[in-house]
Amino acid sequence: MNYQNVTFMTSAAKSDQCPDDIGSEVAFAGRSNSGKSSALNTLTKHKALARVSKTPGRTQLINFFALEPEENRLVDLPGYGYAKVPVAVRKSWQSMLEMYLSKRESLKGIILLVDSRHPLKEFDLVMIQYALDLNTPIHLLLTKSDKLSNNQQAKTIMLVKKELQNKYQSDLCTVQLFSSLKNNGVDLLVSQLDNWFEK
Ligand code: GDP
Repeated sequence: MNYQNVTFMTSAAKSDQCPDDIGSEVAFAGRSNSGKSSALNTLTKHKALARVSKTPGRTQLINFFALEPEENRLVDLPGYGYAKVPVAVRKSWQSMLEMYLSKRESLKGIILLVDSRHPLKEFDLVMIQYALDLNTPIHLLLTKSDKLSNNQQAKTIMLVKKELQNKYQSDLCTVQLFSSLKNNGVDLLVSQLDNWFEK
């Protein structure tokens, strides 16, 4: 599919604000600063597509983008703050995420953005567990891989794969390296998305 044909649809705080639950969608999740906006911009070749999700009032919302054909969508889930966010914010974010993930029939898979220098933090593990509990495939992008040497990249992906295997033993959880800066890993990401959208 051509991910350049993409347009902002709407933002949602609750289920009834989401677009009709028909067709297929893939959601992008990640901690703040994980490189989620950059990856969305790189994938769609739009310099500022994901900026819309960062405008005031939208950062805590679920943002929907239409692809062509129109019943396919990319979804930008709110970035999760650092460990020190107030409990109330954390709770509201978690319940919104649970609402979305558990109810959305059109959700075909989740792309989880993880900084390759700090993989598998608490939030990442929570997301992976949510996804697997719901039988939703989840594909990890180890982002900013250009910040690691080739050796470190090989070591990181091996360690992450091993930890995922030990913790979850699930074929639904996969992983790759990714760099928006160097355009590395884009083809792999595209094949994963194509695969989900075709199902
Ligand atoms: P978000 O908060 O998850 O949407 O993250 P952003 O996409 O805004 O990126 C956070 C920071 O990481 C920014 O300073 C980006 O320039 C930087 N960044 C994102 N992707 C890459 C990458 O592939 N390589 C490098 N070196 N920096 C990146």
